[in-house]
Amino acid sequence: TQFTDLGLNPLLLKALEGEGYHTPTPIQAQSIPHLLKGHDLLGIAQTGTGKTAAFALPILHKLAANKEPRRRHACRALVLSPTRELASQIADSFRTYGRHLGLTIAVCFGGVGVRPQAMQLAQGVDVLVATPGRLIDHLDGRAVNLGSVEVFVLDEADQMLDMGFIHAIRRILPGLPKSRQNLFFSATMPKEIGALAAEFLKDPVKVSV
Ligand code: AMP
Repeated sequence: TQFTDLGLNPLLLKALEGEGYHTPTPIQAQSIPHLLKGHDLLGIAQTGTGKTAAFALPILHKLAANKEPRRRHACRALVLSPTRELASQIADSFRTYGRHLGLTIAVCFGGVGVRPQAMQLAQGVDVLVATPGRLIDHLDGRAVNLGSVEVFVLDEADQMLDMGFIHAIRRILPGLPKSRQNLFFSATMPKEIGALAAEFLKDPVKVSV
């Protein structure tokens, strides 16, 4: 399989070409077709397998296929990541792959001022990548409203659990609309993680690399 066989938006293919990517990695080849059809996904994969593009490409494809005027305080795709480094890397990947699409990508993490992030969120964004604690701050401050999230990604779920973010995640989930696409990634699948996945994934496709 090549990226050109997957039915992705030509502007995404152009960005991939620019990166010199031609062949999807196994997690990409196994996930992207299902994600494009709107299925939920449970992915067992480590960093380094290409999992970021496995979710970023279908999300960008979907958002570009159905562009909407920006609504204040809204976001259309939400990605939760455990650390600021990972969150930044994920946002960078969205920006790289989405460079020809004209979508807005925001990243929010702790340790820096809340205000500039809140001001950006108030304008509305297409993709928000956030660490759980800082997202809670923005929800409490009414900077962001998750009621129009179409795709939700929980990345590095096992690391989230180890870092004590489970409580924050449980506070975030009720703000999401019932009808949405869910993606769940973890390097390992201990019982507690499996239970969390089962809570919000609907009939997920399972991919393990
Ligand atoms: P990730 O597992 O998402 O952190 O990606 C690992 C690295 O592989 C990143 O530096 C990506 O830019 C790169 N990468 C992702 N997909 C591909 C691909 N299909 N071909 C070549 N490199 C890729």
